[in-house]
Amino acid sequence: MARRKKIYEGKAKILYEGPEPGTIVQYFKDDATAFNAEKKDVIDGKGVLNNRLSEFFMNGLNQIGVPTHFIRRLNMREQLVRNCEIVPLEIIVRNYAAGTMSKRLGIAEGTQLPRPIVEYCYKDDALGDPLVTEEHIAAFGWASQQDMEDILSLALRVNDFMSGVMMAVGIRLIDFKIEIGRVFDGDYQRLIVADEISPDSCRLWDIETGQKLDKDVFRRDLGNLTDAYSEVARRLGVLPQSNVTKPTLIN
Ligand code: 5GP
Repeated sequence: MARRKKIYEGKAKILYEGPEPGTIVQYFKDDATAFNAEKKDVIDGKGVLNNRLSEFFMNGLNQIGVPTHFIRRLNMREQLVRNCEIVPLEIIVRNYAAGTMSKRLGIAEGTQLPRPIVEYCYKDDALGDPLVTEEHIAAFGWASQQDMEDILSLALRVNDFMSGVMMAVGIRLIDFKIEIGRVFDGDYQRLIVADEISPDSCRLWDIETGQKLDKDVFRRDLGNLTDAYSEVARRLGVLPQSNVTKPTLIN
C-alpha cells in the first residue's frame, strides 16, 4: 500500500497530504508536552479526545459563520482540514488572569479581567513563543493591518462562542490560544481559524469547584489528564463511548 506523504510533525499532531488538492489530514497524537517540550509524556487517549473536541468546537464555529479550516472528521484520530498558510502568531484571548499573564503582571490567577484581553506571541519554539506587540507584527510583516483587524474580530467571536458553550456546561473559559491560517479563493485572501481548539489550548475551570479541566492538569501534575478531558467531552455530549481512554481504532 502506498505510504501517504507526511508534511509536518509537531508536538501534538502530524499533518499528511490530503486526498484532494488544498486539503490536509490532521492526525492527533497522544503526546503531551509543556514548558516548550521540557516536560513530555504520552497520555493514552488524549489524541482521540482532542480530535473529537476540536471537531465539536470548529463545527460549531463554522455553523455560526466563523470560518475554520475544519472539513470533516475522518476517524478516531484524524480530521480532514483545509490547507492554509499559518500566520506565525499565537493569538491568546484571556477572560481571567492565569498562567503567564499572572506571572508577568502579578495578578492572582482567577481574577476576572475588566474585558477580554488579546495577546500575540510570535510562533517560534526556539525562542519560546515570545510575546510581541502589533508594532513588531507590522514591522516584520507577519500580518498586515487589515489582517490584524480580521484576526482580532475572529478571536473575539471565538471567545464569545467558546465562553457561551462552556458556560452552558458549567465550565469557565479562562483563556485560550488559536492559530489563524490564510486561504486563497481566487485573487482573494481570507483568514480562517486553524490548528485545533481543545483542552490542550484552553484553560477550563469548573464553575462550582474551580477544578482545572485542561492541560494545566499535566503541566502542574494535578491528576489524570484524560479524566479531565473526558469530563469536558462528557459534559458537551461528544464522548463517542465510555471507553475513550483505550481507543481500539488507531490509524
Ligand atoms: P499562557 O500564556 O498563560 O501560558 O497561555 C495562555 C493560553 O494559551 C492557555 O490556555 C494555554 O493553554 C494557551 N497556549 C499558549 N501557548 C500555547 C502553546 O504553545 N500550545 C498550546 N497548545 N497552547 C498554548
